[in-house]
Amino acid sequence: MIRTSGLVKYYGRIMALQGLDMAVPQGAIYGFIGQNGAGKTTTLRILAGLLLPDGGAAEIGGYDVVRHPRAVRGIVGYMPDFFGVYDDLRVGEYLLFYAAAYGIRGQRAARLRDDLLELVELGDKRDAFVDTLSRGMQQRLCLARSLIHDPQVLLLDEPASGLDPLARVEMREILKELCRLGKTIIISSHILSELADLCTHIGMVTSGRIVRQGLLHEVLAAAHRRNFIVRCYGGLAPALAVLEEWPGVEIINTTEEQVEFRLSDGPAQAAALLKEMISAGAAVTHFAETQQSLEDTFLQLAREGDKA
Ligand code: ATP
Repeated sequence: MIRTSGLVKYYGRIMALQGLDMAVPQGAIYGFIGQNGAGKTTTLRILAGLLLPDGGAAEIGGYDVVRHPRAVRGIVGYMPDFFGVYDDLRVGEYLLFYAAAYGIRGQRAARLRDDLLELVELGDKRDAFVDTLSRGMQQRLCLARSLIHDPQVLLLDEPASGLDPLARVEMREILKELCRLGKTIIISSHILSELADLCTHIGMVTSGRIVRQGLLHEVLAAAHRRNFIVRCYGGLAPALAVLEEWPGVEIINTTEEQVEFRLSDGPAQAAALLKEMISAGAAVTHFAETQQSLEDTFLQLAREGDKA
């Protein structure tokens, strides 16, 4: 549904996108993850037709975003990371204003307004002034605004930023509902764990390039590293001597109490290694795999991406 190849964007001498290749299948919720300045907003703005790339290509639903911007705008809803709300407009009027911008008026616009307010749970705020809404409510209103022309694709730039935990959960439920309605969604964030139980796919961007992408569970499984901790009674020296010689072991950290290391192979190797340490005289009291958090996985991928 969405594809970019070799996308390049310069701001003066800064190369914000350095050949970005993105592929988002139809119906996916694609988590676009990257640290500050990685190039997420730039990519989304190009896809939304708001910024021209300096190289490469991008298409949505088969339309090239540079050659067919009107067609692209017709099928894309964009929610920017910073958005303005007008002071003197009521919530309902605000949506009617955006509907009119897409040529939708009269009864159809009124019905849409009501349906969308229902979807984002702002039905009871229809007559409130927009600038009296809380941040979370404004985010939801902005999401409703991006849906006004019933786009097939949604580009959401950090829609959960600044929201409290409850508002985040509410936002997540709305996005799941939109996915059930058949939309293809890109949602950017710099917090991987925030997206992990929402996304079907993930793309990790570092310095203007996608370093990993695909089905969420496949990306995470490929990035997962087997880290172990070993502790011994009476000193770590025998265990360390074995670890330093063992192929596929990378020692991460050594303290007086324990050694943390990474093992490239599976459980059979771990068992053989433990046996060898005991044979070498290590009085092992603890030998266990550590849990790698999603954030650790992301940071590791980002580091690997930087080295590539
Ligand atoms: P964040 O998570 O902080 O929003 P991002 O991943 O969305 O970051 P971009 O906003 O796309 O990143 O920025 C990518 C790079 O381009 C950064 O180095 C940024 O400083 C630079 N950049 C972005 N917009 C401009 C601009 N208008 N003028 C100059 N440089 C810019």
